[in-house]
Amino acid sequence: MTDFGFKLSKSSAIELDKVDTSLYERLCQAEPGARICMNCGSCGATCTAGPYSGMSLRKVILGLQRGQDVRSMLSGCMLCGKCSMVCPRGINTRHLILTLCRIYD
Ligand code: SF4
Ligand code: SF4
Repeated sequence: MTDFGFKLSKSSAIELDKVDTSLYERLCQAEPGARICMNCGSCGATCTAGPYSGMSLRKVILGLQRGQDVRSMLSGCMLCGKCSMVCPRGINTRHLILTLCRIYD
């Protein structure tokens, strides 16, 4: 095969009709606020643990909507509650994270 010096990356497309979003639905039932998240990123931008652990609540919620496992990201959260102070939708983010941890347990 000819070497062009580059290769095509595997597609990262997600077929939303086929992913399992049951965890997201369970979270929304327990914490209806999860449904009104607009993925603005304010929580991730101000996250105390973000720079050290990669924690971002925006990514957590987006990951759940895409049927991805976000457990490892949650372990970086210190439950400081800073994200709840900046959320423009007034979501009780700290409580949402706690609820999600309980769902994973
Ligand atoms: S509660 Fe967790 S996600 Fe929110 S700012 Fe603190 S460390 Fe970050
Ligand atoms: S700040 Fe609130 S609305 Fe914005 S991404 Fe985070 S949880 Fe969602």
